[in-house]
Amino acid sequence: MINKSLKQLGAMLQAKEISSVELTQEYLNRIDRLNPEINAFITLDKDKTLAQAKNADAMLAAGKASAMTGLPIAQKDIFVAKGWRTTCGSKMLETFIGPYDADIIERFDSVGAVNLGKTNMDEFAMGSSNETSYFGKVQNPWDRSRVPGGSSGGSAAAVAARLCAAATGTDTGGSIRQPASLCGLSGLKPTYGLASRFGMIAFASSLDQSGPMAKSCEDMALMMNVITGFDKRDSTSLNREKEDYTRDLNKPLAGLKVGLPKEYFAEGLGADVATVVQEAIAEYKKLGAEIVDISLPNTMLSIPVYYVLAPAEASSNLSRFDGVRYGHRAKEYGDLMDMYCKSRAEGFGAEVKRRILIGTYVLSAGYYDAYYLKAQQIRRLIAQDFENAFKKCDIIMGPTAPSTAFKAGEKADDPVSMYLQDIYTIAVNLAGLPGMSIPAGFAQSADGKKLPVGLQIIGNYFDEARMLNAGHAYQQVTDWHIQMPEGIE
Ligand code: GLN
Repeated sequence: MINKSLKQLGAMLQAKEISSVELTQEYLNRIDRLNPEINAFITLDKDKTLAQAKNADAMLAAGKASAMTGLPIAQKDIFVAKGWRTTCGSKMLETFIGPYDADIIERFDSVGAVNLGKTNMDEFAMGSSNETSYFGKVQNPWDRSRVPGGSSGGSAAAVAARLCAAATGTDTGGSIRQPASLCGLSGLKPTYGLASRFGMIAFASSLDQSGPMAKSCEDMALMMNVITGFDKRDSTSLNREKEDYTRDLNKPLAGLKVGLPKEYFAEGLGADVATVVQEAIAEYKKLGAEIVDISLPNTMLSIPVYYVLAPAEASSNLSRFDGVRYGHRAKEYGDLMDMYCKSRAEGFGAEVKRRILIGTYVLSAGYYDAYYLKAQQIRRLIAQDFENAFKKCDIIMGPTAPSTAFKAGEKADDPVSMYLQDIYTIAVNLAGLPGMSIPAGFAQSADGKKLPVGLQIIGNYFDEARMLNAGHAYQQVTDWHIQMPEGIE
């Protein structure tokens, strides 16, 4: 049961072979049993969850159900949900209860999906290992001593341990794709502007985008149908006609031009990851894809550019947490300035403070031109790299992350090596393109554990249906995406 796809579970619900309440209870039982160690969830509220399941059963009984009705999914704790504690992984919001629903929450509610709980994450989505969360680290179900990736590490671990049928994530520089890669899942960051950012706590607004994390591309297509759509409450939401992302799933791949960027297969890529990715590409050749060599010459600049722009936007976005309106307020303070300082000093963790300091610095009068403006110019060049590449190919493939899951604590004191986890994903956000990671096989750890490796697929703007087609075709001839970690049965 727990390894079934959203589509299969949906069919069982429609055929009344199981009720949403029964299915939801099964996942809640698994969460009770496995979550105390894995720590994938920050907040659970069984009453709310089961009430939603009951409501879904009523929709099913009344013949008002659609593809996602009654399916239990987990929501990253970055999305404000009415009546639910919403922490964004921070002490700053430890006791904050959402006064309204984020657009994505509203959309899942309206189709009758069931919210199983709010998942753990790096504080304010800053991190690649889930270790910056105020609510503690998350275990990778494939090897409990390793990180699940981040920042959507709780969502990734929850899907990998089959604590939910699927989950949502957000991706500012790789936070859906890198944890998907490290936990053996499918994860998709849509084209910027396809999914509304309303009610999604802002990190770097020009980069942030929500998306699905699931077992398969077919499941992600169903979720994309829910997540995407115009929202007038988000000024960057795109007013386009709604698409059906399942429409091209079964198209043949013959003639598909796949570009391999030489910069993605260069120094820095782990040999074990490279081998698995090359094997996946060989499989695509068998499926009829044509491989072309391409170049994304500014790849190496994407991390320095991101670590100017993302902190700049974060320093501005996080200024709202001042201890006055909501969030943590220091217990003792002198004047107003002292209250701001103490509340922020106590409420934010070290990585968030580092980003605020960098961001404030690059935006300061004397350095704005040298850092912020320069980074914006290079951001344009990075987008042009992709524009040129897509003249030669339909989609781009390569590794998602340079390594498999690393040990908890291994990179905690080395921010630069942590930042390098996103070397292949960040440029996609800078360009606003869609990017996806799918399970492509396993590497072995020294002690014999299977460690998942992700294949990244990057598409041109609005080409999600084609990317899902490419991923689905591969998932029809491989079984990496349905393999489960040992010990989570
Ligand atoms: N790891 C990157 C960071 O720490 C990306 C995070 C994200 O995509 N939210 O900023």
